[in-house]
Amino acid sequence: MIPVTSYAGMEVAVFGLGRTGVSAARALMKGGAKVHAWDDNEATREKAAEAGVTIRDINKMDWQNFAALVLSPGVPYRFPEPHRVVKMAQMVDVPVIGDMELFARAVGDLPEHARPRIVGVTGTNGKSTTTALIGHILKEAGKDVRVGGNIGVGVLDLEALTGNSIYVLELSSYQLDLVETLRCDVAVFLNVSADHLDRHGGMEGYVAAKKQIFDNQTADDTAVIGVDDLYSQLICTKLAAQKMSRVMPISSEFALGRGVSVLNNKLSDCRAGRVAESFDMSAARALPGSHNHQNAAAAYAACQALGVAPQDIMRAMASFPGLPHRLESVCTIGGVTFINDSKATNAQAAEQAIKAYPNAYWIVGGRPKDDGLEGMAEYFPLIGKAFLIGEAAKEFARRLEGEVDLEVCGTLDVAVRAAYDQACESGDPDPVVLFSPACASFDQFRDFEARGDTFKALVKALDVSTRGALRALA
Ligand code: ADP
Repeated sequence: MIPVTSYAGMEVAVFGLGRTGVSAARALMKGGAKVHAWDDNEATREKAAEAGVTIRDINKMDWQNFAALVLSPGVPYRFPEPHRVVKMAQMVDVPVIGDMELFARAVGDLPEHARPRIVGVTGTNGKSTTTALIGHILKEAGKDVRVGGNIGVGVLDLEALTGNSIYVLELSSYQLDLVETLRCDVAVFLNVSADHLDRHGGMEGYVAAKKQIFDNQTADDTAVIGVDDLYSQLICTKLAAQKMSRVMPISSEFALGRGVSVLNNKLSDCRAGRVAESFDMSAARALPGSHNHQNAAAAYAACQALGVAPQDIMRAMASFPGLPHRLESVCTIGGVTFINDSKATNAQAAEQAIKAYPNAYWIVGGRPKDDGLEGMAEYFPLIGKAFLIGEAAKEFARRLEGEVDLEVCGTLDVAVRAAYDQACESGDPDPVVLFSPACASFDQFRDFEARGDTFKALVKALDVSTRGALRALA
């Protein structure tokens, strides 16, 4: 745990007692703050109390006494409307911050020689993959690295701060909205497309939140920016003009005069219009598709900025195992390969999967995002057949009708069976059943992990029944 001493002796309100709320409360208490923690859900409060957190109904307290309100990133801060507690804090000018800001303050309180280095990673898609990949490369390079934030362990639950450690942190737009003083030695901004717009008051608010990852950077720091979408390109151009940090563009779509790009399976590190280093990406088997090449280019640039030699970076990329639920290869049954991409919760992510696996038997649907399948139309010809599930089934069927062969299945079990049977009968050389839902999971599952685990269990069950059938035939 990382104790936060910046609020020692002060009263701090903590609202929202999920994983990060509890860890923030405990880190503040360890650092000597008087914590008053609350959650509207009684069971959540009880669980937090069991973890040693002091529970007080902050709704009934004098807010003038609070030095800060620590808000869980799950609680609406600005949009669609500030939560009741946010309004209360703002009325009496109590700063509203998140656990990432507490981490930033803990780091800020250290003398320069004891300050660890920080790598922040944000973007609409690819954050977790890139964060894990950077963590893996640094670990392989022998660095003392800690990976967390929006992925795995909450930031304040990571190991204590030391001068030679490197923290690789995945930062969501919600978390970035609640930071003020975080300074990333390396800030990675992968891409932007419409997602979570309801929580940020539209695209402008969403981009503004994500852009905060570059706030507080100095001339010694590095800004790694994807330039494959217009918003990110604009940010890159502006940052380069401001000369606040070293800007390193990355791409998996364009050759760059300066920066890191991956095109046609080849990574090129270009400086002053020349290719300084060039590597074959084929060995990086857990990073298929141009979207993963964007992540790889970003990880390369970030690790190079931290002093890892290019050859060492590439060697580590080859041994990266990948993350579950992201184009995860499950198994091959009767010649049909199953890919679990349950983490594809929006159209942009699913589009990458369609491009990586052309002609696939695509299981899609769930709770649709505002923009549905928008932007995907040019890739419809790549789809073998669509099997539709969840709340999105009817809407997506209307959108795909006439352009893509489709079947409305309703539930995942029906879709897995149907996709498998038809893939088997297709006579295609190496058929793939691709589960890349392009939707949130909450209509039928607890979260994307439960959804992906269900898919894998259904596939395993197919395997068992297929083996049973083969035995019966023998
Ligand atoms: P995040 O943490 O930002 O949600 P993940 O690494 O968990 O990102 O990947 C989420 C989904 O997005 C997966 O389905 C994956 O295949 C897809 N994806 C990964 N990287 C990218 C990228 N750079 N651009 C677009 N989609 C991506």
